Amino acid sequence: MIVKEINDIQRVNLHLHTNVSDGNISPKELIKRAQEIGLDLISITDHDTADAYTQIPDNILPLRILPGMEISSLYKGDDVHILAYGCDFNNSALRAMTEMYLNGRKERAKKMIKLLADMGMPISLEEVIAIAGSRELIVRPHIAQVLVNHKFCQTRNEAFEKYIGDNKPAYVPKPEVSVVDVISIIHQADGFAVIAHPGKLTKLSYLEDIIKMGIDGLEVWHPDHYQWEIENFIKIATEKGLFMTGGSDYHSEQDKHNLFDIIPLPEVVLTSIKKLWKEYQCHVKLR
Ligand SMILES: [Zn+2]
Ligand SMILES: [Zn+2]
Repeated sequence: MIVKEINDIQRVNLHLHTNVSDGNISPKELIKRAQEIGLDLISITDHDTADAYTQIPDNILPLRILPGMEISSLYKGDDVHILAYGCDFNNSALRAMTEMYLNGRKERAKKMIKLLADMGMPISLEEVIAIAGSRELIVRPHIAQVLVNHKFCQTRNEAFEKYIGDNKPAYVPKPEVSVVDVISIIHQADGFAVIAHPGKLTKLSYLEDIIKMGIDGLEVWHPDHYQWEIENFIKIATEKGLFMTGGSDYHSEQDKHNLFDIIPLPEVVLTSIKKLWKEYQCHVKLR
């Protein structure tokens, strides 16, 4: 068995989606690909679910996996994504939250389907679930795909632009937990809370507010971040003593987040990730 030293961790991607949420490939395929490329450390961070982790093959070394999840939350009416790293997925508060999201999303989908039917576009919940997969975690791209299948729209983008995008006629907001509660639940589950793609926050001032709530880190490197933003986040994280992470937000080959292997992490971010990995391992030993 090959045991990697901490300094051998060089090729890292801590933000990857699978088809357990809205990605295109299965957890097994994703791991196979990471192994082929020779990544050292990854995290699968599906939206509001850790179910990908029930599908991880036993022997994947030398690849390392930091358990992760990308949790939806709301601050002042705006979406904030929080990456939860290293949580104990059996924690009851965390499980209650993921169950709430799962059921809430299904109820939301039913309401959206009703609105679409009223607009002359009948689709069924069963069709949407068939696309969503075994866990039945429904997100809007699944509904968009059914609209495309029925030829009510040409593309998934068109479905968003005309019907199901934010505040469009068949839009229903999804159930949300507040940022402060999400951070608290991650901490109860012995994990680390990291603001995902802080460059996409509706207002940059939210960053300071969320840091005050007790966040543990910032996702410094993300494909949507400009170089000046990366530098700014490094500065803030260093000043506040926060972890710095990075990942490509991979969903599929078709989108611009198709980076999988070459994440140009600044050295300071890589060093911080190694520290996070070490701390996570200490936490696991104490569990
Ligand atoms: Zn996100
Ligand atoms: Zn993501």
